[in-house]
Amino acid sequence: MYKEFQEFLSKELSAIEEAGLAKNERIIVSPQGAEITLNTGQKVLNFCANNYLGLSNNPKLIEAAKAAMDTHGFGMSSVRFICGTTDLHKKLEAKIAEYFGTEDTILYAACFDANGGVFEPLLSEEDAIISDALNHASIIDGVRLCKAVRYRYANADMKELEERLKDSQKQRFRLIVTDGVFSMDGNVAPIDKIYELANKYDAMVMIDESHSAGVVGQTGRGVTELFKLEGKIEIITGTLGKAFGGAIGGFTTGKKEIISMLRQRSRPYLFSNSLPPMVVAAGIRMFDMMKETNDLQDKLHKNTAYFSQRMSEIGFDIKPTQSAIIAVMLYDAKLAQDFAARLLDEGIYVTGFSYPVVPKGQARVRVQISAAHEKEHLDKAIAAFTKVGKEMGIIK
Ligand SMILES: *Cc1c(COP(=O)(O)O)cnc(C)c1O
Repeated sequence: MYKEFQEFLSKELSAIEEAGLAKNERIIVSPQGAEITLNTGQKVLNFCANNYLGLSNNPKLIEAAKAAMDTHGFGMSSVRFICGTTDLHKKLEAKIAEYFGTEDTILYAACFDANGGVFEPLLSEEDAIISDALNHASIIDGVRLCKAVRYRYANADMKELEERLKDSQKQRFRLIVTDGVFSMDGNVAPIDKIYELANKYDAMVMIDESHSAGVVGQTGRGVTELFKLEGKIEIITGTLGKAFGGAIGGFTTGKKEIISMLRQRSRPYLFSNSLPPMVVAAGIRMFDMMKETNDLQDKLHKNTAYFSQRMSEIGFDIKPTQSAIIAVMLYDAKLAQDFAARLLDEGIYVTGFSYPVVPKGQARVRVQISAAHEKEHLDKAIAAFTKVGKEMGIIK
């Protein structure tokens, strides 16, 4: 059997390669940070990590992780409800709820699991899920596992959302689901309007704060802080794998009855291993740090404002952003790939995105700003963009 399957896969893989869609891994031999070393020996400035607060290699988090290995060992060898819950897990869940101003939290191995396990235990065929068309793949997969009737609205399109809410009045419960920040454009979901429509049409709201938590809002509490809706949203999901240290881990936080039901019925929680104590302990230290100082958020916001302003002044076509994601629009797929490759030669690591990750004719280079970036890093990136942009005839 395998021979035919092998031929089939080889053909598919060649097609992916020929279409220029192959994803190739670059190999990093240093810790994650503003400056990284590749296995080629090249040192580059990293502008494509989700390391928004620069915590991926933070000494305090490393210290907390090491200490937890001494007190709690390496792994749990169990799911949470059998024998995989330590005092650390309970403490981190409480810290996350405190941070977001929610009632309770449940940890997962990743946000992919949080989203995969949130819909099916809560909603059934009598209910409706109304989802933004640009929501993350894990939300789409989670919705597929649930029997609720599915409705979709165009990205952040409040007219369409209202129509879908009207259409779904015949269902018992309605849940509107949206990313807080959309990862390709960096735009924030209009949560104020979504919340208003949810009240008008009797719906609940779920926000995935993966790209917004730690980043958006003056103190980084995410889009609920930005729109002053702390504690009002029924369900928030998020990751420990982006701004919050970048290791691994996800969570769902929100109304306590919802979290209680997830502990009873959510399949990735019931059937997948508990997070290792070192990751949990570093998470606790991280949320303590968030309370001690707002320096990282302040620096991130300053860096983002500086970079996007300079890039616009130079003449690049920048999507309006309210996050740490800056989409530099090039429109043509090949141009975006070539541009990113040329920037790497100049020591700037960014990623080009084209169809099917973004719509056809909307290719771009995505820049992700971090609190780990110093002004000289930003200036070096701006200089490289300027040089390559002129060479390639994108700016004058
Ligand atoms: C990154 C991301 C996820 C997945 O998070 P992991 O913890 O890496 O599984 C889920 N949703 C959104 C919106 C994301 O950006």
